[in-house]
Amino acid sequence: MSQVFITGANRGIGLALTKLYLKAGWDVVACCRNPDQADDLLYLISDNPGLEVYQLDVTDYDAVAELGKELADRPISLLINNAGYYGPYNVAVGGSDVEEWRKVIEINTIAPLKVVEAFLPQLKMGQGTIANISSKMGSLDDNSSGGAYYYRSSKAAQNAVTKSLAIDLAVDGIKAVVIHPGWVRTDMGGPHGLIDTETSASGIQQVLNNLTAAQSGHFFDYRGNEIAW
Ligand code: NDP
Repeated sequence: MSQVFITGANRGIGLALTKLYLKAGWDVVACCRNPDQADDLLYLISDNPGLEVYQLDVTDYDAVAELGKELADRPISLLINNAGYYGPYNVAVGGSDVEEWRKVIEINTIAPLKVVEAFLPQLKMGQGTIANISSKMGSLDDNSSGGAYYYRSSKAAQNAVTKSLAIDLAVDGIKAVVIHPGWVRTDMGGPHGLIDTETSASGIQQVLNNLTAAQSGHFFDYRGNEIAW
């Protein structure tokens, strides 16, 4: 039985991924900060015995490590670091706030690596894949509009982390990729996004289903197109 671990599974792209993997017959460990308020996720439990929901703030690194220990001995086929945070909009040069920036970096850059570290034994057992949901906004090559200092820097750093993971963990049979989910209609993407969460999630699922060892350490969008760093 394949098992996927997903962070930020209560809404947006994370919720859509949870639904899709359940539909595909996978066991899903779905994490979110406030399960008590995660009605859309909890609603799925009755029809899906393969779904388990855990409380997890990904920046609570002690809790991340604890959950890794609690779920020891369970091979992970796929770990999706989906939880993300944009931070304040329209921060101009001269107006950066270190605390706000730090928060974005914590969630988008540091937490994904801490989650991987906590679940490394399970990833090794499952010869799993790490899918870090990043953004085209983390691509230096694609940056033609400037701005978004916190988010761009956090995702560019997340990309660098993923590249190193791909290199370091290849020996264990673990793949690591960066995925841009598209511009998606979610709380973060807003109402004018180009695609819905189902389209994004099913594209991501297809990219991951077809992923080869040679593609580990690369940056793809949800349609499988490679993105320049
Ligand atoms: P949403 O804003 O809809 O959802 C963000 C998710 O991340 C929520 O589940 C939220 O939980 C969770 N989250 C935030 N902080 C934490 C934390 N500290 N611990 C645990 N969970 C946390 O975003 P999307 O679904 O749109 O985004 C998903 C991913 O896709 C993100 O990584 C984002 O950067 C990326 N992305 C999205 C794009 C888009 O157009 N939507 C474009 C490019 C990339 P809670 O409900 O508790 O806040």
